[in-house]
Amino acid sequence: MADLTKKFDVLVIGGGNAALCAAISARRARASVLVLEGAPKFYRGGNTRHTHNMRCAHDAATEILTGPYTEEEFWDDLLRLTGGQTDEELAKFMIRESKDILNWIVEQGVRWQPSLGGTLSLGRTNSFFLGGGRAMLNALYLTAERLGVEIVYDAEVIDLQIENGMFLSAKLKQPIDGASEIRASALVAAAGGFEANIEWLKEYWGDAADNFLIRGTPYNRGSILKMLLDKGVQEIGDPTQCHAVAIDARAPKFDGGIITRHDSVVFGIVVNKHAQRFYDEGEDIWPKRYAIWGRLVAAQPDQIAYIIFDSTVVTSFMPTLFPPIAGATIAELAGKLELDPVALEKTITEFNAAVQPGTFDHTILDDCRTEGVTPPKTHWARRIETPPYLAYPVRPGITFTYLGTRVNRQSRMVMKDGKPSANMFAAGEIMAGNVLGKGYAAGIGMTIGSVFGRVAGREAARNAKN
Ligand SMILES: Cc1cc2nc3c(=O)[nH]c(=O)nc-3n(C[C@H](O)[C@H](O)[C@H](O)COP(=O)(O)OP(=O)(O)OC[C@H]3O[C@@H](n4cnc5c(N)ncnc54)[C@H](O)[C@@H]3O)c2cc1C
Repeated sequence: MADLTKKFDVLVIGGGNAALCAAISARRARASVLVLEGAPKFYRGGNTRHTHNMRCAHDAATEILTGPYTEEEFWDDLLRLTGGQTDEELAKFMIRESKDILNWIVEQGVRWQPSLGGTLSLGRTNSFFLGGGRAMLNALYLTAERLGVEIVYDAEVIDLQIENGMFLSAKLKQPIDGASEIRASALVAAAGGFEANIEWLKEYWGDAADNFLIRGTPYNRGSILKMLLDKGVQEIGDPTQCHAVAIDARAPKFDGGIITRHDSVVFGIVVNKHAQRFYDEGEDIWPKRYAIWGRLVAAQPDQIAYIIFDSTVVTSFMPTLFPPIAGATIAELAGKLELDPVALEKTITEFNAAVQPGTFDHTILDDCRTEGVTPPKTHWARRIETPPYLAYPVRPGITFTYLGTRVNRQSRMVMKDGKPSANMFAAGEIMAGNVLGKGYAAGIGMTIGSVFGRVAGREAARNAKN
C-alpha cells in the first residue's frame, strides 16, 4: 500500500482512460504518481468500461482500419458535427496527436481488433479495443502498476485546496491508512463530467432530468469539476450540451451501457405518449443521427417515446438486451404500451398511406420516402403492416456532459483571469467542452481522453520536476 502521507509529484484524480493515460505518461517521465479512483475496484474505470472504439487520424489502411482517415477529413467531420463550436487550435492539435496515439496506446498494452459490422459502420475511422473498454482498462491498469504508479480505490476526493491557481492538496472522503489530505506538486483532474448528478442536470433541464437514464458510471457526479470552477478555473462549454441517445426505457438508472441503445429508428417510426410522430426518422444515415435522439425524446411529454416497427425488419439491426414488446394487432400493441389504440392506429394508417414506392437500402440515402404526412420520413420509409407489430419504449440516455474546465495545448487549466494555472492539468470528459461545443462523432470521447491524458501526464511531470 502506498504511503499516502508523502508528497507525490503528480496526483491524478479519476480512474478511467484519461486518468490512466495521464498516470502512465507522467510515470514514464519519471514522476512519482498517485491515482485516486473514487469507485471501488470492481467498478473502476468510469465510463471507459463501456467503450468499444476510438477515432484516430491515419494516412493509410492498416490491419485493423479499412482505409485512410486523414487529419483534414477528421477536422472536416469535427467542424461539421460541432457546427464550428470547437477550439480550432486545440482540436487540430488533438487530431494531429491522435495519429500517434494509435501506436502509443498499443505500447501501453492495449490491443485492437477489426471492426465488426454493426450499425454505425466505423471500420475506416475507428479502431476497436480487443475485448472492449474493460479489457482496454485492464491493460492500462496493469501497465501503470508495473511502472510503479500507486493506485487507491474507494478514494473519493471531496475537496481541493487551491490558492491563486495553484493546487496544494486534495481531501479524501474517508481517511485511508491514516491519511485524509493528499499532497502533490501537480494535479491532473480526470474525474469525468457531471452526467450522474441528477440534481445538477435538473438545474438546466428541470424535472425532465428525473426521467433521464445515465448510460455510464454513477460515480461521475461532477464534484471535481464543480470544485475547480468554484475555485477560479475558467469554464468552457454549454451546460445543456451532452451526448445523449435513445435507450431502452427498461434499462437501469445507471450503467446500462451499450447493450441498451436502440439502433432501430430508421426501420420504423417513433411516436410519443400521445401516439404522435414528432421527427423525421429517416433524415440522414444512422451514424450521423443516432446521437440526436436522446435530446429529441427529452423534449417529448414525460420524456418517453416508442420505436414502432413490424416483423419484417426484426433482423435488420443489432439486437439489444431487451426484447421488443409485441402485439398481434396495432390495438393490442398500443394496449401493452399504454397508448391510445385509436390514436396509434390513426398514426400508422396515415404513415402507411404516405409511403411512396422505392428501393430500400439503409446504407444509402434511398428513395423510400413519404409524401403528405408531417413530419415526413425522407428515407427508408416502408409500410408497417406485417404482424406481429413490435415496439421498444425509449428514454433519453445521457452518455456524458460537455461543460468543462478550459485548458491550453499543454492540457493545463486556464484560470478565470486568463492565466494558465501553476500546476493543474485536466484530461478527458472533464475538459471535453474545449473540443466538443455540441454534437458528437463516434469514438471522439476516447480520443480526447487519450490525447489530452498523455499530454497532461507528461506536462504535469515536467511541472513537478521544475
Ligand atoms: C455506454 C457508453 C459507451 C461509450 N462508448 C464509447 C466508445 O465506444 N468510444 C468513445 O470514444 N467513447 C465512448 N463513450 C464515452 C467515453 O466513455 C468517455 O468519453 C470516456 O470514457 C471518458 O474517459 P474519462 O477518463 O474522461 O472518464 P471516465 O472513464 O468516466 O472516468 C472518470 C473517473 O473519475 C472518477 N471520479 C469521479 N469523481 C471522482 C472523485 N470525486 N474522486 C475520485 N474519483 C472520481 C470515476 O470513478 C471514474 O473512474 C461511451 C460512454 C458510455 C457511457
